[in-house]
Amino acid sequence: MTHMNAEIKAELLARGKVDVERSLLPPPSRSTAGPGTGLRSIFFKSGGHRVRLEIDAASPLKMVRQDGDVVILQDNKELVRGQIDPIVAHCPGQTYITISEQCRYDCKFCSVPKFQGTIKTLDQVLAIVEKAKSGGNLKTIAFTSGVATTPENEIDRVVAYVQAVKKYHVPVGVAVYPTEDSSQRLKDAGVTEVKYNVETMDREIFDRVCTGRKGQSLDFILTSLRDAVTVFGKNRVSSNIIIGLGETDECVRKGVEYLAKMGVIPVLRPITLSPYRQGEISATRPSAGRLLKLAKMTRDILEKYHLDTGVSKTMCLPCTGCDLTPGRDA
Ligand code: SF4
Repeated sequence: MTHMNAEIKAELLARGKVDVERSLLPPPSRSTAGPGTGLRSIFFKSGGHRVRLEIDAASPLKMVRQDGDVVILQDNKELVRGQIDPIVAHCPGQTYITISEQCRYDCKFCSVPKFQGTIKTLDQVLAIVEKAKSGGNLKTIAFTSGVATTPENEIDRVVAYVQAVKKYHVPVGVAVYPTEDSSQRLKDAGVTEVKYNVETMDREIFDRVCTGRKGQSLDFILTSLRDAVTVFGKNRVSSNIIIGLGETDECVRKGVEYLAKMGVIPVLRPITLSPYRQGEISATRPSAGRLLKLAKMTRDILEKYHLDTGVSKTMCLPCTGCDLTPGRDA
């Protein structure tokens, strides 16, 4: 019996996609957050690890049911055996809600601007939270949001929604675009952890792919992250670095060290090559070897700065679905 380990998870993440036997297919819901917007996915758990894979009939990996287990096959041979991990809202174990499914920015790795979906009302958000509660699944709440008009308006909306879910007394995480005073306002509203994404620590790549972000330079995000650590404390602030945009490993190492030194936990996110962005961006999904190397490098740097991914309660660090998470997976 083959359980998932760091190496197998890296292989699965490098592929990122799996063909799923019809009987195992989850209900037809699509991601409404970030780069994977519009794509259907499935969560698989095994050996204490979890992975999120996009469902794609063209994938060489096949997910099938065998002897009461769920098995992922590669070239018709068993690669790993485990179970499907049911989602609460967006991911397993968390009620993770995208508020504004639209964005006025045009980051080339992200599909949200291509869909320009709805903005959830407070009533809609509370209905999702109540559903999780009545199912006995309300352990944490997380919010993310595109920028429908301005980052300031978005923070106003998120703050109001956070205040409204305070009554549930569960940890709340927020992943948004920062503003001058977003950290203090989110903290005052009752937020436990925040994530402001740098996306890349390569300035040339940032300027090329994060277009249309008025006032949202890499420097502003870095300043906001530094400020967030003073407000929320160590292990409570994280930031995505996308892997596969053409950055070098040395650039990632320097970026991880820069963030960790200021108390921010970097989340190394393999790029999702969205069909909705075809022709707009050149990117390469990282190999298993690269993912393992970068995860171990990040683990060592986090240790050096006394940061611990095991402390985080909300969003991607405890979920681990999309990444090889240092300290949890590798
Ligand atoms: S790792 Fe983050 S983005 Fe991926 S499924 Fe989990 S919460 Fe969502």
